[in-house]
Amino acid sequence: MQLDAMWQFMQVDMEADKFENRMRQSPNRQKLIKQRDFLKDQQANMKKLEAELAVMQDRLAAVQDEAERLEKVLEGLSQEIEANPPATIEEADRQAESVTKLLDSLTRYEQELQKMRKDADAKDRQQKEIRVRAAKTKQDFDQLKVQYDEEFKADTEALQKMRARTEAESKKLPKELLEKYNDIKQHVTPPMAKLVNGQCSGCFMSLAGATLLDIRSGDKLVVCDNCGRILYDPGE
Ligand SMILES: [Zn+2]
Repeated sequence: MQLDAMWQFMQVDMEADKFENRMRQSPNRQKLIKQRDFLKDQQANMKKLEAELAVMQDRLAAVQDEAERLEKVLEGLSQEIEANPPATIEEADRQAESVTKLLDSLTRYEQELQKMRKDADAKDRQQKEIRVRAAKTKQDFDQLKVQYDEEFKADTEALQKMRARTEAESKKLPKELLEKYNDIKQHVTPPMAKLVNGQCSGCFMSLAGATLLDIRSGDKLVVCDNCGRILYDPGE
C-alpha cells in the first residue's frame, strides 16, 4: 500500500522540518538577532543625535554672533557718551535707557547661550554613552557570531543529511501522491493522520461511515472533512 510509504516518508520529512525549526529558534541565533537589532537602533539614535547637534551648533553660532554684534554696539554707544556727554537730563535718560536695553538683551542672549551649551553637552554625553554601549554589544555579537557560525555549520550538515533521506523516501512515492502531500502540508501539518477508533487522530473528529468505507477500500486517497489531513489506516 502506497500510504505506508507515504507515512514512512512523512516521519523523516517531519523530523527534518522540526530540526530546521529548532535551528531557526536556536537561542544563539535569537540572541544575535536581538543584538543586531539593538545595534541598528543605536546607529539610528546616533544619526538623530548628530543631526540635532548640528542644528544646535548652528543656532549657537548665530546667537553668539548676535551677542558679539550687540557688544560692539554697546561699546560704540559708551564711547560716544564719553566723547559727547549728555547736555540735558532728558538726553542722559535716553542714553541710559538705550544702554539698559542693550544690556538686557545681552543678558538674555547669555542665558540662552548657557542653556544651549548645556543641552549640547547633554547630547554629547548621550552620544558617548551610546558609543560605549554599542561597542560592548558589538564585541559580544562578534564573539557569539563565531560560536554560532560553528553551530550553524554543524546543524546545516545534519539537516542536509535529513533532507537527503527525505528525498530518498520521496522517490518511493508516485508523483501525484507527493504533490498531494505537499499541497496539504501548505495548510496543515503533519499532513497525514492515522485513523483511530473511527476518528481522525489529527483533529479527533469522528468520521462518517461512508468515509470509513472509502478508507478501508483503499482505492483512493481520503482526506478528513474537518482538518483536511490524509487519513491513514495502518491496519492490524
Ligand atoms: Zn481531521
